[in-house]
Amino acid sequence: MKFTNSLAFAKEQDKKDPLKKFRKKFLFPQYKGSDALYFVGNSLGLQPASVSKYIQVELDDWAKLASEGHFDAHNPWYSYHEIFTKPVAKLMGAKDDEVIIMNQLTLNLHLLMVSFYRPKGKRYKIVCESNAFSSDNYALQTQVQLHGYNPADAIIEVAPRKGEHTLRTEDIIKTINKNADEIALVLFGGINYLTGQVLDMPRITAAAHKAGILCGFDLAHAAGNIEVKLHDWDVDFACWCTYKYFNSGPGAVAGAYINQRHVKNIRLLRLGGWWGYDKKTRFIMDKKFIPMKSAEGWQLSNAPVLSMAAHKASVDIFTEAGGMPPLRKKSLMLTAYLEFIINRINEKIKDKNLKLEIITPIDPAQRGCQLSIIAQGIGKDFYNALTKAGVFCDWRNPNVIRLAPVPLYNSFEDVWKFGQVAEKLLLQTK
Ligand SMILES: *Cc1c(COP(=O)(O)O)cnc(C)c1O
Repeated sequence: MKFTNSLAFAKEQDKKDPLKKFRKKFLFPQYKGSDALYFVGNSLGLQPASVSKYIQVELDDWAKLASEGHFDAHNPWYSYHEIFTKPVAKLMGAKDDEVIIMNQLTLNLHLLMVSFYRPKGKRYKIVCESNAFSSDNYALQTQVQLHGYNPADAIIEVAPRKGEHTLRTEDIIKTINKNADEIALVLFGGINYLTGQVLDMPRITAAAHKAGILCGFDLAHAAGNIEVKLHDWDVDFACWCTYKYFNSGPGAVAGAYINQRHVKNIRLLRLGGWWGYDKKTRFIMDKKFIPMKSAEGWQLSNAPVLSMAAHKASVDIFTEAGGMPPLRKKSLMLTAYLEFIINRINEKIKDKNLKLEIITPIDPAQRGCQLSIIAQGIGKDFYNALTKAGVFCDWRNPNVIRLAPVPLYNSFEDVWKFGQVAEKLLLQTK
């Protein structure tokens, strides 16, 4: 596709966009009387306009039915999480019995590590990325400590090579093979939060399995962003939050995936709670814990329905849009257009120090919608100026600005306008 840096071209693409009607389904923050340029759907997705209606249904049922709502509500609360089974399994490339919407992300990561980080003898180490998200680092460190190991020894980090920003699959696989008989778990962010790099999840999983090691992914930045095929890739487990690309609101309920071969094993160690108990006999309230033979068997508590109602609003929009394939198709174009616009800006900037360096992989297969840039010369001043000019983007230490044009609600015009704002700011900078 040949791109042009013009408003007319951007508008033409928007007119041809089969997903264009979805923009209107979201509430944009306003800047000077019109929609702000919102590129932080990777941090907090916009609110679907329908959310308040979805939540109101539950509030009304709560008011009218009170405790009867568990079974008689429009969406019975007792089984509310089951609403998500089919659509979420589809969105995550999983089988129906492999997914569950529950808790929040870091908690799910801990719960899954209880089952899948089972150090034994010489095998107690975890392989992960050197620039993992803080919460994941804390989860890994404290899990390792829970088993009596020292994180400095038990956590093996794979880092980008000198002078590079992203990981090479071959380096990850080499690390796995080199330390194979000491490793208990391979755990990576499927998309790195900082660089936006999509890892080769099927190859990493296969390498781990070949060495007899379990493999999991944190999909916080992948869920609702790229097409994942967790079941076909044979991933052991994964977890994600739903407030990023899944637009389900601040602190929203999260998701987890557990491979079929594990969910059927009711002897697999886990932390138990009554909602993980076999639902046919849950209310016998027997003392012995018998988990369900599905990902539901990892639930602890009854469903947080108000949070789940917001998630339902968003999942319904994803389903209406046709799931991930059409979204990904637009996303590839939209992000390529942002890359094109940034490259055009760089051409106009004489001062090498002011050029924007894209650290996200250029290969579209290795990225989702996020582009991470380093504004070498002006760093945070550039970020602050963008924010003041009505551009929502974010800053991550030490020097990265992240921009994520989201296919559900961002337009080519948004991306073009960003280019105009950024170019003006950079050309003004002395
Ligand atoms: C956003 C994000 C989190 C946030 O964790 P919560 O438990 O949802 O607060 C954790 N890990 C990664 C990789 C993230 O991107």
